[in-house]
Amino acid sequence: MFNKLCCPDCKSEKCSLFKNYSTMNNGARELYICNNCMQTFSETKGTFLEGIRKSISFIVTVFKARSNGLGFNATCECFGIAKNTLYNWERKFSNIKQSLFLYAILHNFLSQIIEGDELYTKVGKNVPVEDCQGWTIVLMERASRFIWALECGKKDKYLFIHALKLLKYVIERTKDLTLVTDGERRYGSILFEICCEVTKSKNPKRLLKVLRQGLKVRLKNKGDRSRKKNGARPKYEAPQPEHPNTIQNLPDSEIHANHVEALNASIRRKNSAFRRKTNTYAKNQTALQRTLDIYWIVHNFIQEHFTTQQVPAVALGIIKEGFSWEQIFKLRKNFAM
Ligand SMILES: [Zn+2]
Repeated sequence: MFNKLCCPDCKSEKCSLFKNYSTMNNGARELYICNNCMQTFSETKGTFLEGIRKSISFIVTVFKARSNGLGFNATCECFGIAKNTLYNWERKFSNIKQSLFLYAILHNFLSQIIEGDELYTKVGKNVPVEDCQGWTIVLMERASRFIWALECGKKDKYLFIHALKLLKYVIERTKDLTLVTDGERRYGSILFEICCEVTKSKNPKRLLKVLRQGLKVRLKNKGDRSRKKNGARPKYEAPQPEHPNTIQNLPDSEIHANHVEALNASIRRKNSAFRRKTNTYAKNQTALQRTLDIYWIVHNFIQEHFTTQQVPAVALGIIKEGFSWEQIFKLRKNFAM
């Protein structure tokens, strides 16, 4: 079912080999014919490689340089490619993210602990931090290090809604899911709005609005714990009412976002738009999101995680082996449908 061949026009899967043809830089390729509508199409149709003439190995080298922190302009300069070319490659590559996300949420999961955190970079001109579009929400599964959401924008309600709506798909597929965050209360309150249900309380005449069954939110409040005066918050908190049947088995020591904070350091190293003390910040929000989508693909599906020594998508159990760059280039847009 992964990456099945089908006609780009009528979606029929009854296609057969029509002939082979050769390309300038990438060897022989296959041309298929649809037995239903007689349309012919190349094996690269609907993939990243459609319309690409440069050699695959060259493109892989360029992407590797970019995802190890080389800036956009520096990459064009070093490899002698036009800015437009690199821009098109990155745009096409980042578009694969959506299919991979859809593929990931086709699976069911028993239990997940998701860490949530935000990081920040400058976008475009200098504006006050609260108006800046360079905030990035990261929602990462703790054990596998699989990143579910990596979304940038202004740090407002809508950014949280956007990231948590992605998480909602995961929640619907997971029996038992806990979201742990540091300090930021909007994760819990917004998740409560989009993932709640009504249940009976001990008093059968009263109904309670709670997080849906199996869903927990935990908050670690930073700051001085000894100041426990009026209004001061406890260090560990379950800010939203939870379903009475949700299993409560998370010790306080597990309530932290340490792994996602370590990841943020890696994003700063590897994504040039997040490096301070230089002037290679992102130009605008769309450009920043594009680099984040590429990071999402590379982190989740290609690279072995430094600590777990596994590709996160493999650790999460959704693929058997990590992908190579080339395999990602050959994925068809409709492969997960
Ligand atoms: Zn057809």
